Amino acid sequence: MSDAAKTEKKKPKRPVPHPIEPINAQFWEQCHNGVLHFQQCSSCGKFRHLPRNMCAYCSSPDWEWKPSTGKGTLFSWTIAHMPMHPAFVAEVPYVTGVIELEEGVRMVSLVRGAVMEDLELDMPVKVEFEKVTDDFTLPYFVPA
Ligand SMILES: [Zn+2]
Repeated sequence: MSDAAKTEKKKPKRPVPHPIEPINAQFWEQCHNGVLHFQQCSSCGKFRHLPRNMCAYCSSPDWEWKPSTGKGTLFSWTIAHMPMHPAFVAEVPYVTGVIELEEGVRMVSLVRGAVMEDLELDMPVKVEFEKVTDDFTLPYFVPA
């Protein structure tokens, strides 16, 4: 076995979501297919995230998945200098951001590819995806 193969075998696996509710599993399936989707209320038109069965604005139970543009801005962020899981040891320091998407929803995600000193509020970002297992592909954001 090569050194690279040994290293790869020892590398801890990234934690992935364990959706229990079908509505959450659908969100992750769509990420696995490479397109970020959010729910849109069929009554008032508001988008929402995290996935849920009823609109927080008008209480309608009717909604549809709609593809996101994947574009947004950096609403807030923090820089992690200590890995919170062994799988992130090689990634520190890394940026965890709150992204405000064009649809008006916010989501927490890794922000990659940015010079940390250049991070600023409302910095344009766009989604990209990383396949972390055969079943899970996780979104992250990069400067647009
Ligand atoms: Zn609504």
